[in-house]
Amino acid sequence: MFPSFTLRYAHLPARMSAECTPTPAAAPRLVAFNHALAEELGFEAAAFDAAEATEALSGNAPPEGSAPLAMAYAGHQFGNFVPRLGDGRALLLGEVSDREGRLRELQLKGAGRTPFSRGGDGRAPLGPVLREYLVSEAMHALGIPTTRALAAVTTGERVMRRLPEPGAVLTRVAASHLRVGTFQYFAARQDVEAVQLLADMAIERHYPHLAPLSGGGRYLALLEAVIARQAELVARWMGVGFIHGVMNTDNSAISGETLDYGPCAFMDAFDPRTVFSSIDERGRYGFSNQPHSAQWNLARFAETLLSLLDEDHDRAVALATDAIEAFPEHFEASFGAIKRAKLGLHRVEEGDDALAQALLDAMQAGHADYTLTFRCLAEAVEPAGEAALLELFDDREAIEAWLPRWRERLTREAADAAAIVARLRATNPAVIPRNHLVEQALTAAAEDDDYGPFEALLAVVTRPFATPTDADYTRPPRANERVLRTFCGT
Ligand code: AMP
Ligand code: MG
Repeated sequence: MFPSFTLRYAHLPARMSAECTPTPAAAPRLVAFNHALAEELGFEAAAFDAAEATEALSGNAPPEGSAPLAMAYAGHQFGNFVPRLGDGRALLLGEVSDREGRLRELQLKGAGRTPFSRGGDGRAPLGPVLREYLVSEAMHALGIPTTRALAAVTTGERVMRRLPEPGAVLTRVAASHLRVGTFQYFAARQDVEAVQLLADMAIERHYPHLAPLSGGGRYLALLEAVIARQAELVARWMGVGFIHGVMNTDNSAISGETLDYGPCAFMDAFDPRTVFSSIDERGRYGFSNQPHSAQWNLARFAETLLSLLDEDHDRAVALATDAIEAFPEHFEASFGAIKRAKLGLHRVEEGDDALAQALLDAMQAGHADYTLTFRCLAEAVEPAGEAALLELFDDREAIEAWLPRWRERLTREAADAAAIVARLRATNPAVIPRNHLVEQALTAAAEDDDYGPFEALLAVVTRPFATPTDADYTRPPRANERVLRTFCGT
């Protein structure tokens, strides 16, 4: 039932990874399987065999043709360089060619210890596995580049965290698992050959339009392309109120996909200072710091490429610096376009950014829910429909002043009200995976073996632009439901 594997990463020089057999799971049970994604990856739907999938995706009997390995990588964690991190609990099975001919990697996360495990147990608790499943699939449905979730299998064993929890394995699908940290691992060892192999693989897999280039220009173009894609990614996160929470360089994917759903969370009421992660004491990775963090990570990426950019070190530094300094421009262009779209605007006008900022300021002053404010704009195109929007604000002065300004701006769009309403509904989701709902779903599964809430929530968050019949999926948390801290859950 599995498509055939190619082993591109496995065929790189041996020092770039460690072959590793998954640790068998005592009593594996398939608790989630993404049939739509499997189909996309070239699995034969008719040949789906739950028993085979369970054995394969628990790591007990890796699929035929796969060659499990742990990738080597380093990383800056909260600004501190760790020269050897690597896959401590994840194993790359290999790549499959999807129905569109794109290579996609399959990785088992939580499949046991590897040579990179250090003190860790190589395992993953069920809660974080289901969180990654839910949130990554929601992100995909929101149109945001991300790794995907193919399956979750419980192991039948407990893992020790603060309390014992059921163990699980997530099958993650990524365009690739190349990270800034992968480059850093080899650059730190002055292994220019490996860095070049990684750069060439990144170009081939993620930026094939650069393949004809050669010399230093080829790698400068790669750097610029990765910068543009990361800028776009962070802008998209911010368009839906997403906070990654742990933007370390080892969690920064060269493909431009969102990678690693640890202590991530979505904002409810808008506040640009929002931080959720329990390990982010200084707010390094808070909502509005994300562009800055991405730029910082990209500067670390640029450093790894210096020797490929130019033989002359000073010239290489100058080229890399120029590229990195262009990040804010890329980000502002992407975020500006997203904000305009969220306001229903297609035309570009000078004052649009200020108009968007004024709405954000009004939300902050009125403690209004970020997702619902944008979603309610569709009704508020006409003053008769603005009540639901106004209700979101506990201080209405600023929003009442803003609405006429926005409506006046809409008159200069070459579209009638119905077309603008349709645009707004297609751009601003009704549903995000709200933290309190995610927590409830995870708790029911982990504590009561009840997957009902997980399945129901997954069904709703993977159709985010439809208004669900049950308003519990759209409303913000009540005071007693509010999630103020998220944990890495490793
Ligand atoms: P993360 O916080 O998931 O980005 O992981 C950071 C580093 O810690 C990576 O090298 C992981 O492979 C490693 N790691 C996280 N959890 C575990 C675990 N349970 N066992 C072994 N290594 C782990
Ligand atoms: Mg990670």
